[in-house]
Amino acid sequence: MAMDLIDADQWDRQRRIRGWQQTAVEQSHCVLIGAGALGNEAAKLLLQLGVRKISIVDFDTVVTANLNRCVFFTHEDAQKGAKKAEALAASAGRLNPSAQIEPVLERVETLDEDFFSKFDYAFSCLDNLGARLHANAHCYGKTPLVDGGTAGFNGKVQVVDGGSCLECGLSPRDYSFLWRKYSCTGEMLEFVDPKMPALPTTTSIVAGVMASEFVKMAHAKSEEPPVGGVVNHLTQKRVARENKPRKFDLPESGLAGKYWFYNGLTNESAVFEIAKRESCPVHG
Ligand SMILES: [Zn+2]
Repeated sequence: MAMDLIDADQWDRQRRIRGWQQTAVEQSHCVLIGAGALGNEAAKLLLQLGVRKISIVDFDTVVTANLNRCVFFTHEDAQKGAKKAEALAASAGRLNPSAQIEPVLERVETLDEDFFSKFDYAFSCLDNLGARLHANAHCYGKTPLVDGGTAGFNGKVQVVDGGSCLECGLSPRDYSFLWRKYSCTGEMLEFVDPKMPALPTTTSIVAGVMASEFVKMAHAKSEEPPVGGVVNHLTQKRVARENKPRKFDLPESGLAGKYWFYNGLTNESAVFEIAKRESCPVHG
């Protein structure tokens, strides 16, 4: 009987982590910018963690070449040219039936600060620098941004939360690449981007780090006192396992203002500090 009740709670096992605050996770309103590989994986993880309100921004349609790394897309989606955001929202929702998932069929570049400021956390799951920088500039100072990227065996995650931003860490080479995509009047040029190499394995690892950063921030920013112990499902009372419950997160352990790099060929990863650039156009 007791085991049945324990097993009936979808989040019982994560509640057992000392200091875990399921409410802080559940009540976070999240936006996924991009419904591609990282967007699929991030949606999976956020819903499994218990996030109840997620918006998914993407105007693009599913193609068969997405299926090596987009866990929620099907061959049928590709055949009928389903919208990525709609296909992801429809398919991922089964992981958490109490969640509200809203597809937003827009180009990232058309969304303004009012849109991004509605959310508690934004996840940049994009494959191009222009859209990333748009999200970065419009979230800065309002909504913490978790940016992920992959290229073959390599991956990266950077968190922007008031300190240095994505643009602070750009090199002149990045800018030259960026400008190749725009005309001199700033309009997007219509040409086909070369496709980046992409693996499902790297995608999962990078999305895992992104979701983990969200969990730590949601706990660090929560104003609820941390609770210790676990809930006894027979009495619905919390059974303390320790005298002094603590938050498991230490803010300095997060990636805010830092850049995590992963090399899947050598299994090496490293964290680099990104200095806040005084001349940065976003906040300089
Ligand atoms: Zn900056």
